[in-house]
Amino acid sequence: MNVMSRLATNSTDPLKAINDYISSIDGVDEYVVVLDGYPLYWGKNIDQEKAEELAALATDMINSYHGYSATSGEEYVIISTETPSNYTGAARLKPNLFLLVRGKPSIVRTILLNVYRRFNNRLTCPWCGGDLSLHVVKCGNNHSLPVGLDTCPICGSRIEYFKCPHCGRPVDPRGNKVVLRTPRENIITSLIIMAATIALIGIAVKTYHKLSLLSIITLASSILFFALSFSLLYSGLKKKQPVKLRK
Ligand SMILES: [Zn+2]
Ligand SMILES: [Zn+2]
Repeated sequence: MNVMSRLATNSTDPLKAINDYISSIDGVDEYVVVLDGYPLYWGKNIDQEKAEELAALATDMINSYHGYSATSGEEYVIISTETPSNYTGAARLKPNLFLLVRGKPSIVRTILLNVYRRFNNRLTCPWCGGDLSLHVVKCGNNHSLPVGLDTCPICGSRIEYFKCPHCGRPVDPRGNKVVLRTPRENIITSLIIMAATIALIGIAVKTYHKLSLLSIITLASSILFFALSFSLLYSGLKKKQPVKLRK
């Protein structure tokens, strides 16, 4: 680990962590973290002028929303606007801290929800309690996504589970425990193949006659079949499927 990445992982600035999180996710076009009305962090590929414009937009969107009350000001809400060319979501994380994200609707909404969770009740691992709110999940085609999506909005591949970055155990996109099990039909198929192979070798050994070419071929082919069934057994038993645990 080099100095830069150690600095990044040891970062105690929660707003910097949010910036790093959003900038690493695919399907995001533009975003801005707004503190006291000014853009604090922004990306992807936008300049300061554009960031100020988006900060003003975030402030407008949030101020024009009348759902906040003085007492329940921290209540979670995402305000969104959609045009044919873009989807914009904004959230008030704290009274003076806003976040605006543009990009694919489900990705934008999930990011806003996860960042909100970071500040409030948090999204935690059901196994170890570690924080998962800013964890980045990879789909089968290597798109980087926020936790919470069960289908990749970019390529459509399913996300059945991911491994908790703290304890390594499998968690589904909704934050439930899953266990990885070998499918029962793979176990049964493997046992049948093994039994058939052992029987075949038994027959080959019993009917073995010295110097008989047929016997040698039978024995050799049954040993070959034995090796093949072992590799089938191995791959069949190695294949694991996620099974959701009941709470
Ligand atoms: Zn994908
Ligand atoms: Zn965990």
